[in-house]
Amino acid sequence: MFESLGNKLQDILDRLGRESKLTEAQVKASMREIRMALLEADVNFNVAKDFVAKVSEKAVGQNVLGSLNAGQTVVKLVHDELVDTLGGKTAQPELKTQGNVWFMVGLQGAGKTTSTGKLAAHYKKKGRRVLLVAADTQRPAARDQLEVLGKQVGVPVLKVNDGETPAETKRRLDEYLKTDYRDLVIVDTAGRLQIDEALMDQLAALQTELHPTETLLVIDAMTGQEALNVAQTFDQRVQVSGLVITKMDGDARGGAALSARSVTGKPIYFAGTSEKMTGLDQFHPDRVAGRILG
Ligand code: GDP
Repeated sequence: MFESLGNKLQDILDRLGRESKLTEAQVKASMREIRMALLEADVNFNVAKDFVAKVSEKAVGQNVLGSLNAGQTVVKLVHDELVDTLGGKTAQPELKTQGNVWFMVGLQGAGKTTSTGKLAAHYKKKGRRVLLVAADTQRPAARDQLEVLGKQVGVPVLKVNDGETPAETKRRLDEYLKTDYRDLVIVDTAGRLQIDEALMDQLAALQTELHPTETLLVIDAMTGQEALNVAQTFDQRVQVSGLVITKMDGDARGGAALSARSVTGKPIYFAGTSEKMTGLDQFHPDRVAGRILG
């Protein structure tokens, strides 16, 4: 991912970096090239436009033109803007000493169940007592899949039964927690093929019962800008608190991942980097920017 964008940006910035003094025309031409490269990588139109506008504004504001090492300064401005676009500082989901309930939501196939297993492994390693709740009653094999993943990473799984109401799920969860203390409960909710009103109502009802402290939306980097439309719709209905972007190891052009923070206003907490249970990275904007710019 980001390969083609990275190569193009590196070319443009290499040329800029070699200039000791820059004319306004040179900066303008470079900004046009950067905007094109972003759009070709499937970055959201407004995000690409804002990106070059901000870099240009700063270049003018800092009197870069005509100054010594002007090219290097612009290169740094582009790098910093990339970090900002990706979210600035590293963001993490809120984790209290106890009573953490996280909902995993998203479209079917986005990698929700896989990411649920990965998060269980990640936080177990950090010393958390994790319980997984298999509440994806929509995709036939999802609950069994989570049970297998739970076994694999050594975390118990409570399975929601067919036709169970959210209130019953809440009662069964409370019962479970009485005998087996857990400080982080991660709920793999029903995935859907597309945004579906009835399923959204069901998800909202489960939220009302279980009071999640985080609602993590899992989006698939391979689906491009469509993933961000989906994100906005989910957020309107079930208030998303953060994002997990999966399949960052694939050959997606990267535009969705790059635009996700700006378009949704939600922090990216994690990136999925393989199908394995170890394939989950904390999302560090500065490292990702560094990777893109080589
Ligand atoms: P769900 O329907 O959202 O629960 O989706 P799954 O968790 O079953 O994932 C759908 C497919 O995507 C499976 O084949 C996963 O192995 C795969 N997958 C999930 N996350 C990643 C990832 O980060 N990288 C890669 N390469 N594959 C992934």
